[in-house]
Amino acid sequence: MKTAGDDRGIAESLSNRSFRAFAYGARRALTMLWPHSCFLCGGRSGALPLCGACAQGLPRLPAALCPICGLPASAGLPCGRCQRRPPAFDASFAAYVYASPLRELVLAFKHGQGFGLAPWFATAMGSALGICGADCVVPVPLHPRRMRSRGFNPACELSRRVAATLGLPHLPQAVLREVDTPHLAGLRSRARRSAVRGVFRCEADLTGRHVLLVDDVMTSGATLDALARCVRGRGAARVTTLVLARTLRVR
Ligand SMILES: [Zn+2]
Ligand SMILES: [Zn+2]
Repeated sequence: MKTAGDDRGIAESLSNRSFRAFAYGARRALTMLWPHSCFLCGGRSGALPLCGACAQGLPRLPAALCPICGLPASAGLPCGRCQRRPPAFDASFAAYVYASPLRELVLAFKHGQGFGLAPWFATAMGSALGICGADCVVPVPLHPRRMRSRGFNPACELSRRVAATLGLPHLPQAVLREVDTPHLAGLRSRARRSAVRGVFRCEADLTGRHVLLVDDVMTSGATLDALARCVRGRGAARVTTLVLARTLRVR
């Protein structure tokens, strides 16, 4: 038989639980607005989302890279793949390798809980880029349907911060994505290329411009290649790509 004490116990445990839920929500909200504990290890990180040790430990690319596709290549010369079949972009830069624990950070960012990481990501991307001479910044656009379901375009959140850091015009409306492509993960390179062929339409006149294309992750490069082809079709003289992270193994 239930007693008054049992009811009080249940009420207390419920209120404890709702307090814990409230405290958890408040802590998450505070962390997003003003991060003060490291996203990865939970240690102190000041006003940054990652502590120094975790930031240092993120997977980086080696020094010798192909100047065109940005993948590891001996002596920094164009790799065999770029010599055989040059992409539509001229140069590529990435801040990190898309591997754990950076992958988890990117996924948190793309799903919204790690939204506070965006300024930090953009700073890392700006450092990886250095001085490239671009004169405008264009993000890889999302299809309107996907934009509605996600609520934001991760590439655009990065590109507008990169543009602000570099003091360059940000052109998020310059290119539209007309076809909602399926997820390219799991497709081989050739299938990726055909999946993104003709999906972009450039609305802007880019005659003579050096366009910096921005995305969160570069896998095979098929999406950025298709986008570069599209902006070249509207007169872009040079195209550089910049991503937060890229995969090293391309199927
Ligand atoms: Zn840490
Ligand atoms: Zn290459």
